[in-house]
Amino acid sequence: MKRFVIILCWLMVLVPTVIIGVVAFRLVRYEQERLEASTLKAYQAELATVSDNMMLAIADVTSDLIDRLVLLDEASRLDVLRAWQQGNPLIRNVFILRNGHVEHPDSARAATREEASFLMRYDALFDGRRDWSRPPPENGTGAASDSAADRSLRVRREIKQLVNLDYPADAETQVGGTESGRASGWIPWFADNQLHHLVWVEKNGVRYGVELETMALLSRLIRYLPPPPHNSQAYALLDGEERMIHQTGTLDASGSVKKRVRIPAGDYLPHWTLVLFDAGKTDGATAALRYVSYAAMLAVMLVAVVSGGSILMIQAQRSRRDATRKTTFVSNVSHELKTPLTSIRMYAELLEDGRVRDETKKKAYLETIVSESHRLTRLVNNVLDFSRLEQGRVPFALTEFDLGNAVRKILDTYSVRLECGVHGVQETANPVMIRCDRDALEQIMVNLLENARKYAAEGGPPDVQVEAEADTVRIHVMDRGPGIAHKHRKRIFESFYRIDDSLNARSTGSGLGLSISRRLARLFGGDLVYEPRKGGGAIFTLRIPRSGGPR
Ligand code: ADP
Repeated sequence: MKRFVIILCWLMVLVPTVIIGVVAFRLVRYEQERLEASTLKAYQAELATVSDNMMLAIADVTSDLIDRLVLLDEASRLDVLRAWQQGNPLIRNVFILRNGHVEHPDSARAATREEASFLMRYDALFDGRRDWSRPPPENGTGAASDSAADRSLRVRREIKQLVNLDYPADAETQVGGTESGRASGWIPWFADNQLHHLVWVEKNGVRYGVELETMALLSRLIRYLPPPPHNSQAYALLDGEERMIHQTGTLDASGSVKKRVRIPAGDYLPHWTLVLFDAGKTDGATAALRYVSYAAMLAVMLVAVVSGGSILMIQAQRSRRDATRKTTFVSNVSHELKTPLTSIRMYAELLEDGRVRDETKKKAYLETIVSESHRLTRLVNNVLDFSRLEQGRVPFALTEFDLGNAVRKILDTYSVRLECGVHGVQETANPVMIRCDRDALEQIMVNLLENARKYAAEGGPPDVQVEAEADTVRIHVMDRGPGIAHKHRKRIFESFYRIDDSLNARSTGSGLGLSISRRLARLFGGDLVYEPRKGGGAIFTLRIPRSGGPR
């Protein structure tokens, strides 16, 4: 039943602990996943803003160009276009198509190699094999940038119309749209593994426009890339072939650095992507580290709960044992008090009645009364000493005396009272002077001799031996009784501890004698120890420093 209760208690502590641990583990994991997702979202939002800004910048450039192209009149158009080509780093080539025929640059008389390669580049477009409409927007976060750019353009135009009344109404264009015989737009064009941009206007059957210098455009765009959040990261713009166009931060993103976030760069840069490189710990390593730390946390929690529970249980058991021992102590002390009191009362009443005439008997009765009252005194002294020691107030009267002499006197006095003759007392030849409290010494000796009488009576009277060294003296009280079993040897010096503390034990006692004796000995800087006697029996050795004094 008791074991069942203990197991139940442990289960009540362990099961909720494990449940709490698992729930905490899951919560932390969930939180981390949420955090990771929102971090990714934040990076994506940042890249989307970069894409929007870049697309708006390109939209601005194209819109401006379209505005200017629309305003060109027939007569000066070619001259102005040529001047732009020569003077503006953003414009690489210019062209005019009339009725599907390339009027400029003239394919028959292409002035430069650049013009010749320009014509070759746009051959499919200029001879009508490909139409002039823009490719459909790419899917992904950056797709929104197209509408953002177009929206921004429309707003710009509307504002321009409001503030500039001279702005020709028929010059209004739509990017990629057509209106009343006029059309305009831009088109990304892949050739020679490179991305090019063409901005065009169609007016009165003539389609003309400019090719942008992509590098000049890009040099303006890359400043929209922000610095990376950490040194182990880099924002980068990659072309359709995954070649690095530009990156920010100091990270060398060339090797196998992970692309943590990637979004399309926007419709003006089809197939190009904006990327966040991250050379931080790989997901696998981070997860493994995370699991190890969770496991460690759980283990620490379990160890804490188990050790805390164990300490509490040990404490509870100790308190229960103490409580039982104290109750037993009260019963034992009452019993110890009752026995001598009964004898004293019985013999005193016999003497009082005057019925005992025999003088020897009278003397024997009186001696019993005296010895029983001494027994009472010893018991009461032990109880009082215990409470004094517990409260830390032990009055000492240090005197210098000859130990051999003192031991002899104690033995003379108590051997009769304790009904235990002491034999073989060995003392030292010379006086052994020590400085000690005589009463405390007597108390210890009496406790040891009384124990020998109580527990080792069958082995005959005890031997007492005094040994003197330069700075210590030792008094051995040796008997031929049953000795003390190994498991009890330490505990007999605990307060209230009795090997057999049942009320029907052969000898009664309070369990205080040895504990008080050891505490007194230690107060004088000495000790009281037990060792088994060769051939059977117990040896209690009291060690006292010669210049002893309360510590
Ligand atoms: P008490 O004698 O009042 O029980 P003590 O503290 O003097 O208390 O002794 C503690 C226990 O040690 C005793 O209950 C007894 O079992 C054991 N003991 C003490 N002295 C001896 C001895 N000489 N031989 C065998 N057992 C002893």
